[in-house]
Amino acid sequence: MLGNVQSMFLVGWRLCKLYESGKVTPGHSSLGKAWNSRMAREVVSLGRELLGGNGILADFLVAKAFCDLEPIYSYEGTYDINSLMTGREITGIASFKPAALAKARL
Ligand SMILES: Cc1cc2nc3c(=O)[nH]c(=O)nc-3n(C[C@H](O)[C@H](O)[C@H](O)COP(=O)(O)OP(=O)(O)OC[C@H]3O[C@@H](n4cnc5c(N)ncnc54)[C@H](O)[C@@H]3O)c2cc1C
Repeated sequence: MLGNVQSMFLVGWRLCKLYESGKVTPGHSSLGKAWNSRMAREVVSLGRELLGGNGILADFLVAKAFCDLEPIYSYEGTYDINSLMTGREITGIASFKPAALAKARL
């Protein structure tokens, strides 16, 4: 859990530095969001596992952290979409298209 938190912290720190120097790109942001939300999801899963049955009871804060984290995995652009954004930037190829466009070509 500590290793994951440290990696998330370092990704955030690096993004801040890129932002301050005016070099941050949408791909950087998407990679940071995808990585950090994935790592955070793993952290709360490990916390829940550590507590066994108590990990899913409302009396213990791990279950709350679990519920708080799930929206973050989706609402800042889902993990999948952030991954696709990153892929588009590093390859120049977009593996996704707007739903309306996909429908029009059927
Ligand atoms: C707590 C919370 C707060 C929110 N606040 C806001 C807000 O303030 N403003 C706002 O605009 N929105 C907000 N949202 C909405 C959020 O942006 C959407 O939930 C998010 O964009 C995902 O859209 P969706 O739920 O329609 O899932 P869908 O688009 O239906 O996606 C379902 C699944 O399919 C995957 N998927 C979708 N399209 C593709 C594709 N082309 N290729 C591969 N995989 C794909 C997704 O990654 C996801 O896993 C909020 C959501 C939550 C949960």
